Amino acid sequence: MGLRLFNTMGREIQDFVPIQPGKVGFYGCGPTVYNYAHIGNLRTYVFEDFLKRTLTYLGYKVKHVMNITDVGHLTSDADDGEDKMEKSAKATGKSVYEIADFYTKAFFNDTDRLNIIRPTISCKATDHIKEMIDLVKTLEERGYTYESGGNIYFSIDKFPEYGRLALLDRQSLQAGARIEVDGNKRNPHDFVLWFTKSKFENHAMIWDSPWGKGYPGWHLECSAMSMKYLGKHFDIHCGGIDHIPIHHTNEIAQSEAATGEKWVNYWLHAEFLVLNKAKMSKSAGNFLTLDRLVEQGYDPLDYRYFCLGGHYRSQLQFSFESLDAAKKARANLNKAVRELMDRTKPADKASMSDAAKKYIEIFTADISDDLNSPRALARIWTLLKDDALSDAEKLALILDFDRVLGLKLDSVPALPSQDEAPADIPAEVQALIDQRNQARKAKDFATADQCRAKIKELGYEIKDTPQGTTCKKCN
Ligand code: AMP
Ligand code: ZN
Repeated sequence: MGLRLFNTMGREIQDFVPIQPGKVGFYGCGPTVYNYAHIGNLRTYVFEDFLKRTLTYLGYKVKHVMNITDVGHLTSDADDGEDKMEKSAKATGKSVYEIADFYTKAFFNDTDRLNIIRPTISCKATDHIKEMIDLVKTLEERGYTYESGGNIYFSIDKFPEYGRLALLDRQSLQAGARIEVDGNKRNPHDFVLWFTKSKFENHAMIWDSPWGKGYPGWHLECSAMSMKYLGKHFDIHCGGIDHIPIHHTNEIAQSEAATGEKWVNYWLHAEFLVLNKAKMSKSAGNFLTLDRLVEQGYDPLDYRYFCLGGHYRSQLQFSFESLDAAKKARANLNKAVRELMDRTKPADKASMSDAAKKYIEIFTADISDDLNSPRALARIWTLLKDDALSDAEKLALILDFDRVLGLKLDSVPALPSQDEAPADIPAEVQALIDQRNQARKAKDFATADQCRAKIKELGYEIKDTPQGTTCKKCN
C-alpha cells in the first residue's frame, strides 16, 4: 500500500501522488511570534514533523517551508482587533523586532527539544514585503481587489470557488448575510491584503507601497512565501483545524486568483489539543508551555510520546495523568532499548529473518495509513515481546522505526550502574528529596542545600542526573 492521506479539500482519504516523482514540496503555517508557543500549537508541529519523517522514511526528498509571522496577524484571524505583535510590544515596552526575535528563538528552542526537525527554509514575513506587494499588484491587475477606506481588499465575489476548503455555502457568503464588522468591506468575508492609514495610525512596522505606507494582511505572507520557495503549485499544506475557515480559505483565494491555477494538492489539518474540554488557546488564557512541563519534571520527549499516542485527526485531551502515563511508558521503552543495546548490536537489515521483515512491512503500512502514529507506536511494544525475533533484530527494527517516531531511542542513557541502583529509600529521606526538588524548581537553593545536608545526616547520598535525582546509601 502506498501513502494515503486525508485531504481536507474533499474530506476523503486519497492516494498520495507527488507532483514530481520522489519529491515533496510541503508548507506548514508557522508561529506568530508574539508569545511562547503553547503545547497545543506544539501538537500541530509534532504532527507536521511526523508527516515529514514519514515522507522521508518512505523515500521522498522533502522540501519543507515554514513562515514566521512577525507582522499583520490581528487578535482575530479575520481583520478585527489589534496586531498581536504590536500589542505584545506595547505590553512589555520592547520593540516589535525584539519581541519577534525573542519568541522566534523560544519557538525553535521548544521544537528542538521536541526533536522536531527544522524546516528546510523558515522565512520571516517582514523579509518578504516585496513579494507580498507584488502579489497584491497581480491580484489588482487581474481585477480581484478594491480600495476602500485606505485599505486594499480581496473581493471574494470575484472568486466563485471561495470557501471550498471549509465547505462554506454560497448562500451564507452573500453580502449582508452576516453582521457587518468592517464598514469598508463590500462583503463581510472580504479580507484585507494591505492595510494603510485606516486602521492603526501609529503602527510601528510600515512599508511603502503603491497604495501608501502600510503593512500586509496576515494571509498574504503564506501565499507569497510558499510560492516563492515551492513554486506556484506544490504538494502539501498543513496547519491546525482553526485555519480551515479563514486563514487557509483566504490563502487559497488569493493564490489561485493570482495564478489562475490550482495551488495545493493536499491539505492536512491537525485537530486541537484540549484542556478541560476547551481548545487550548492563548487568548482564552488556558494554556501550558513546554517550559512549564519541564519545570514540573517532564522531559519534552514525554510530551512528544503523549502526542504520538493520539491520531492527528482526533482531539487530544491533555491531563497530567495522561502525561504521567506517557512518561512512564517512555521510561520503560528507553530501559528496554538500553538493555538490548547493552546485550547486542543492531542486526543488518539485509540478513533479517522473514518475521523481522514483516514488521517493517506492517510499520510502513501503519504510517502510510493516514499517519497512524498510535498504531506505529504500539508496534514497538508488540515487537519487543515477540519471541520470533532475535534481540539484534528487535534493536535494528526499533532504531529504524524511530526515524519516524523521533523519540531519540538511538541515544537512550546508560542504565544506572549497580552502586547507583535505586536504594530502598526510607519515607523520611524521600520526603526530603521531594522537598529539595520543589525548592530547586522555585530556585530556593538555600532550602535545597539544607535538604541535601539532612539527607546526608540520615546516611544517604543524592545525585542529580538528566533523568532525575538518584539516591543511594552512603558507604
Ligand atoms: P499560531 O501561532 O496562533 O498561528 O498557531 C500555530 C499553529 O498552532 C497553527 O497551525 C494553529 O492552527 C495551531 N493551534 C492553535 N491552537 C491549537 C490547539 N489548541 N491544538 C492544536 N493546534 C493548535
Ligand atoms: Zn499560513
